[in-house]
Amino acid sequence: MIRKLPDNIINQIAAGEVVERPASVLKELIENAIDAGALNIEVRVVNGGKSLISVKDDGCGITQDELPLAVERHATSKLTDNDLFNINTFGFRGEALASICSIARVSIKSKSKKCDDAYELRCEKGNYDISPTMLKTGTIIEVTDLFFATPARLKFLKSDHYESDACAAVFLNAALVNPKVSFRYAEDNKERWNLSAVDDISERVADILGNEFCENMKYIDTGSDSIRISGFISVPNYNKATSSNQRFFVNGRYVKDKLLSATLKNAYKEVVPIGRYPACLLLIELNNDMVDVNVHPAKTEVRFREPDLVMSKLYGVIKKQLTSGMLGQQASSAMMRLGLQTAPQDVHQQEFSKNKTSYSQPRRYDFYKSSVLDLKHENSNVDLMESAEAYHVEAPAEEGMFGHAIAQLDNTYIVAEKAGELIIVDQHAVCERITLEKLLNRESIESQQLLLPEMVVVERSDVEIVMQNSEILSTLGMVIEKMSDDTLCVRGVPTILGECDANGLLRDIIDELHNCGTASTFENKIRLVYATMACHRSVRAGKVLSIPEMNDLLRQMEVTQNIAQCCHGRPSYLRIAANDFKHMFER
Ligand code: ADP
Ligand code: MG
Repeated sequence: MIRKLPDNIINQIAAGEVVERPASVLKELIENAIDAGALNIEVRVVNGGKSLISVKDDGCGITQDELPLAVERHATSKLTDNDLFNINTFGFRGEALASICSIARVSIKSKSKKCDDAYELRCEKGNYDISPTMLKTGTIIEVTDLFFATPARLKFLKSDHYESDACAAVFLNAALVNPKVSFRYAEDNKERWNLSAVDDISERVADILGNEFCENMKYIDTGSDSIRISGFISVPNYNKATSSNQRFFVNGRYVKDKLLSATLKNAYKEVVPIGRYPACLLLIELNNDMVDVNVHPAKTEVRFREPDLVMSKLYGVIKKQLTSGMLGQQASSAMMRLGLQTAPQDVHQQEFSKNKTSYSQPRRYDFYKSSVLDLKHENSNVDLMESAEAYHVEAPAEEGMFGHAIAQLDNTYIVAEKAGELIIVDQHAVCERITLEKLLNRESIESQQLLLPEMVVVERSDVEIVMQNSEILSTLGMVIEKMSDDTLCVRGVPTILGECDANGLLRDIIDELHNCGTASTFENKIRLVYATMACHRSVRAGKVLSIPEMNDLLRQMEVTQNIAQCCHGRPSYLRIAANDFKHMFER
């Protein structure tokens, strides 16, 4: 027998989609407060929101007559012209309060600006009553005993600690993009955040995300246009093992969008190691009809009308900063401080959390001790690039941002000095980057024939992958022929590489092609092959360099994009200010 379900069950089904956990309730309540025009919002969360979630605001309030409608499904004051493509508010589906009321005990106290009296609606399992109450302004909504009506869902909740953090994250995301609203947040009756209203988002970002985040961020703004992108993107070396430091807001709404994240990743791919994530806080604003927000019941996903336009604009603005904006030149502030505390090979694997970057207890005095012992000053007269085409830059006389070389450490690091700063450069890492950028900027790559073709015996799958990519490889100057199922013949290599180990180069290229998989784009493969070539062509760690050679390299660093990281995204230099030495010597 087919029958219509009772309203309360319908609401509980809807709640399954809207209310996943306490944080989802909090998100809906804060959004309602902002939609109501509140300028002050106070949040309380107890036991991770399982016992209590309360949001108090000073918005427009709800009249006595409208209180029952507020908790009724598909009843909203927001979709005034019934146009789902012209939504200017967070809410529009009219189902959040109805859903929440079906699974928790709810009290809504409200004083509408339209009348003098305040009323309270109490609701449990879909039944409600209304009575007069005392309230000067706005609305207080209290949600207690979440999921008491659907105990099975309680089992899916995690620890109080986890749920608290999820609530705090929702709160902070709302606070970040609404700087003109003051926000307070108490957890288990202790105040955790007290954010006064500020003029612009930079101040709010500093209040919430702290100095370290701000030091490593660059503000961008494409200006008002049909698509405006503004906010903060990080220097490449400020990256993390997860994407938790990436936030995207579309028309003020925090969204999780795979396309946006993928575009960010793509824009940074030359400068951030695989598996690491740069930070961002980006606001994308576009006309309401350019984006469909009615895709997901919790409204955390959106669908762009013209995703290509949005993505190419985002990609373009980030790329511009990384190149002409010189964002790729800057080492992160954490990187500089980590130089004082951590073994260099660990640097890029560290989480750059605040406690690990404090100045208080430098642990690596021995690092400096050994550096003094290994300093070398001799001239070597060795070609910088070990190839026919060494790069030369006019004037080492004029000192740029990387100063002048004073010594080489362990035949691997250039030690340079620049007005009050010590700069330590990984010679192989910067040479790789310099060569890669030169390769990428070339229109075509000439090939030179090898006098003696190189026969390379490999696996069958290696022969296959080389043949599948023969077009890419010949564009890049590698002339390779298949001799048999397991033998390849290298007849030509790029002229730019000069005399090189053709066998080793081919094997490394094969490894890269296997690693990047069949789905990888043509452009991506070209980049990987270039990176391999750059590695082969560059001066190695362990090579003695003279002071003029080192200065030459420093000057080339100054005119090379993305120099703060090698081809694989690892950091290429550290800066230590004289001030930092002061701390070490406790002066
Ligand atoms: P929606 O936000 O999609 O309209 P909700 O169920 O969240 O749906 O809220 C229903 C209605 O209740 C809103 O349209 C609004 O009129 C009213 N409302 C909810 N919260 C508040 C609040 N804090 N202040 C004023 N009005 C509110
Ligand atoms: Mg709502």
